[in-house]
Amino acid sequence: MRRVLASLAAVAVCIAFIAAAWNPVRNLLAEEGPEWNEGLPQQYNSIWKVHDIFRPKPPKVAPADAPGAPPADAVVLFDGKDLSKWNGKWKVQDDYMECNSTGSISTKDSFGDCQLHLEYMAPSPAFLNTSSQARGNSGILFMGHYEVQVLDNCENATYSDGYIGGVYGQHPPLVNPCRKPGEWQTYDIVFRAPRFKGKTDEVAEPGRFTVFLNGVLVQHDAEIYGRVRWRGLATYAYHEEARPLVLQDHGDKQPVRFRNIWIRKLDLSWEAIDNRKK
Ligand code: MG
Repeated sequence: MRRVLASLAAVAVCIAFIAAAWNPVRNLLAEEGPEWNEGLPQQYNSIWKVHDIFRPKPPKVAPADAPGAPPADAVVLFDGKDLSKWNGKWKVQDDYMECNSTGSISTKDSFGDCQLHLEYMAPSPAFLNTSSQARGNSGILFMGHYEVQVLDNCENATYSDGYIGGVYGQHPPLVNPCRKPGEWQTYDIVFRAPRFKGKTDEVAEPGRFTVFLNGVLVQHDAEIYGRVRWRGLATYAYHEEARPLVLQDHGDKQPVRFRNIWIRKLDLSWEAIDNRKK
């Protein structure tokens, strides 16, 4: 009896789901006319027609009330309270975490394609006795391998592909919108994970970064050449589809701070974005 009730409940949920999806289509058909789809051309690369009234509607996501706060579908990785979502021993104080020379930290969860928001602060002037790559160096390593640089480049030059907003060792930022050390700065990053040919090291589609630093575009759909590397050409090596996110301890005893870290898991495969034909 219990099994029958469970089956009936599952059927009811399915019917409700289909009905909810059908409502906007029914309204659109009433608005545009039942013949709307007739004569429409097939969209490039898509199973859908141009203006196809039956194409699934974008799911609603409630945005945050305040700019920079996590939207409804985000995973909050750090809300200022503790490192419960992380492996590592950085100091937590007030509403931030701080690199304390105990090594890099990594998320307990794994991520592939994603949108990341975080805020960071380069050390205050008391730590400005260093230069180039030693000043406020940290980094955001997607999948532990692909680094968007964190550095204090306010009054500090370094090699161009090592700047803040750069894909380290690969792409300098388009511009340098770095704030002063001691001020909070924001990163908003879209990462598309690399796709491999089966379980080989051969990459079918390289990874990609689009990056905003302090609201300014610094990387646009930049191709990732491979795993981060110092003084060498980056190359790819196979890894899983999802891996932890890493925040770097660069080893310079620079107390770089982070706060308000959230991430949205995405599926940026062509099939998911565009309903492309295989
Ligand atoms: Mg770094």
